[in-house]
Amino acid sequence: MAQRFQAPKGTRDILPADSALWAAVEAVARAVFGRYGFREIRTPIFEETELFARGVGESSDIVGKEMYSFVDKGDRNLTLRPENTAAVVRAFVEHGMARQPQPVKLFYIGPQFRYERPQKGRYRQFHQIGAELLGGKGAESDAEVLLMLVALLGELGFRDLKVLINTVGDEASRSAYREALVGYLESHREKLSDESLRRLSTNPLRILDSKSPQEQELLAGAPQLRDSLTGESRAHFAAVCAALQQFDVAFEVSPRLVRGLDYYTNTVFEIVSEGLGSQNAICGGGAYEGLVEELGGSPTYGVGFAIGEDRLLDVLPADSPARRAGLFLCVGPVVVTDSERLPLKEGETSTVFGLVERLRRSGIPSVEGAGKQEKVYERAVAMLSPAIVYIGERRPGDGACNVRILATGERLQLDESELAPTLKRFFSFAGAFESPAPAMSLPADAVTDDEE
Ligand code: AMP
Repeated sequence: MAQRFQAPKGTRDILPADSALWAAVEAVARAVFGRYGFREIRTPIFEETELFARGVGESSDIVGKEMYSFVDKGDRNLTLRPENTAAVVRAFVEHGMARQPQPVKLFYIGPQFRYERPQKGRYRQFHQIGAELLGGKGAESDAEVLLMLVALLGELGFRDLKVLINTVGDEASRSAYREALVGYLESHREKLSDESLRRLSTNPLRILDSKSPQEQELLAGAPQLRDSLTGESRAHFAAVCAALQQFDVAFEVSPRLVRGLDYYTNTVFEIVSEGLGSQNAICGGGAYEGLVEELGGSPTYGVGFAIGEDRLLDVLPADSPARRAGLFLCVGPVVVTDSERLPLKEGETSTVFGLVERLRRSGIPSVEGAGKQEKVYERAVAMLSPAIVYIGERRPGDGACNVRILATGERLQLDESELAPTLKRFFSFAGAFESPAPAMSLPADAVTDDEE
């Protein structure tokens, strides 16, 4: 029968060939978040529509155009979550987390849904890795969250991402600026697109995001937000920048960066990658002072970010440690002929079978491989294997193993007893083992140049 069904437009399957890498990236995120004291929260996939209308903002594109909303059989208005901050804040208020020791640090990993026009890097179901710090201390919390984000991206092997940061000011700064900007744009209405004219009355700051060259030209002469900042907002921004400099984080102040969500105050930031084309933002975030109160809690300082996991994976560096987080692959030439196994006697298990199981019991993720060497190698690469272990001889009790380290091309010859500790030390990849050990220095005689 002809194929009838396909994944809905804008969604995709993440197949085993890719899911190992997704999991590895998530493992790095969990490890880094853990180091900063962030703990996981899992909120429902759908929420009351009103939560997003209030939390994300009526004038945002998300609420205005992109939500997957439906009425359930009990006549409730529900929406598939288009982002996770509103739900995290809802949970913070609902569970009285303001009474816990502050700040409360939460992270989430999961799918989000927006009815957008699909294109490369833009999906209707996409995935975010995000963190929210609630009940924090202003600029210092902003800096902590940014430092954590930069640490995470560094650990994933990124070196050439751009951190763009700006301040949208506090409420007082923003209303002063809104007035100045609207005044200026009103006098140039004829140069504005329909979209911008609509925004002029709903959310004029969003016009600064415009990609149209004509509007960009017009905006070049517009009043600058920085001229409307209150002294407090100025000091806040200076403190965030100073903290980043103190820890050698390179960043660029981007005066036009305003971000599409309504809840941000003061610090906003974005991380962009040159390699991504038009959808080049892999992460967005900022501080929000009014959101917890807006959703029914007491005034609470919040700051957070969301990384687009789909895009992150699109530009994950070739040498990212996450690409080496898979299973160790064991093959034994003894039980493997060119392409097929030698028949085993009744009741006999192969040497590879035993070795793989012993490795697993020592905490080394491993699977059996079989077949021609190139095939084994291809499979190992596809599985993100950090190493291939070849068993040399089929002599009972002979434990000599040849280990091929895929990242460096090194070859080691080890007794089986040395195998687990060596592999563990060699791949102290965040999240792969319970406790990352320091990098190992190999005994001189452990490295061989043998070609097998
Ligand atoms: P936002 O929640 O809009 O601040 O977005 C945060 C990040 O999520 C963006 O920087 C993107 O990397 C990612 N993102 C947002 N919308 C989509 C989408 N439709 N498809 C893929 N990634 C997205």
